[in-house]
Amino acid sequence: MTLADVTAQDVLKAIAEFDRLGREEFLASTGFGTAREYFIEHNGQRYDSKAIVGYAHGVSQHVQLLPGDFTGGDKTVATLLRSLGFIVRQIRNPDWTRDEIVLACDLVVTNDWKVVGVNDPRVLDLSELLQTSAIHPIEVRGERFRNPAGVVRKTADIATRHPSYAGVPTHGNKVDGEVLSEFLARPEEMHAYAEALRAEIEAGDSIGQSPVVDPDLDGHSADEGRVLQRRHLRRERDPKLKAAKLAAARRLGVAIACEVCGFDFFRTYGPRGEGYIECHHRTPLSVSGPTKTRLEDLALICSNCHRMIHRNASDWLTIEQLASVISEQRLRSTSGPDGETGDAED
Ligand SMILES: [Zn+2]
Ligand SMILES: [Zn+2]
Repeated sequence: MTLADVTAQDVLKAIAEFDRLGREEFLASTGFGTAREYFIEHNGQRYDSKAIVGYAHGVSQHVQLLPGDFTGGDKTVATLLRSLGFIVRQIRNPDWTRDEIVLACDLVVTNDWKVVGVNDPRVLDLSELLQTSAIHPIEVRGERFRNPAGVVRKTADIATRHPSYAGVPTHGNKVDGEVLSEFLARPEEMHAYAEALRAEIEAGDSIGQSPVVDPDLDGHSADEGRVLQRRHLRRERDPKLKAAKLAAARRLGVAIACEVCGFDFFRTYGPRGEGYIECHHRTPLSVSGPTKTRLEDLALICSNCHRMIHRNASDWLTIEQLASVISEQRLRSTSGPDGETGDAED
């Protein structure tokens, strides 16, 4: 037998049979499992590539192939199908984001840094949680997205990197190691972060409400897995919170101006800018966990300062840090690039 015997007609007949039986039965009757990565796309439907080729071989060659008779994948099945004029798509599960790895690492910690078994209820639980989370939109998910076996593999990637592990670490990626070191350095804090993350996903960061790319995170959108950071920014934009903060400031007779740089929207923009200011929460949700916001936690700042605070998603500044950035910068620009005093006309 050779795959080269398969014709486009044979493949079309296999597709017709797939349609007639439905996926589950087609796979069961041909003896193939679901495709891991490669799918034929035909008339808007997806077909498991290897199973289709196995069946197609039987159409004109009268010998259906079984999964063990040939290897699937890019070099064999996908190449053949493309050469016959079919569209083959590779659908692979997205890499684990940092947030997802934090949740997996937290699970490994509760298991004394050992690999967790596939039937462990905590594995099933985490698998379900990640599948409901909006971290990766449905369109980019492959088959078996974050299934229990995938969760177990990730816990192995983490556990086998632990300093006390004697064997050779499994593959994993760079972020696994980073998250592991953070857990070793600050266990309580990281556990609290994982708990907050879990609560946030359970509370509604679910696929129903697909994440919007947040301009405040400057390109660090959902793919970075910054669940709590997105939640933080959404919380700051709560109009009720902002109204309450402004009312409190007015009661105290405080001018509505930026607490960092003093910018006053009314002074610059006149009536159009009157009463405009942004609310910034001093403590990131990823640090505080889901707590009720008190008005004193909020700072009133201008849009520029606010953007600068959140500009780097992995390193948000405090109000005080931004204020000193500004004053240092002012000093630098009045003293010239070499620290000398300014121009002659000073
Ligand atoms: Zn400002
Ligand atoms: Zn903010």
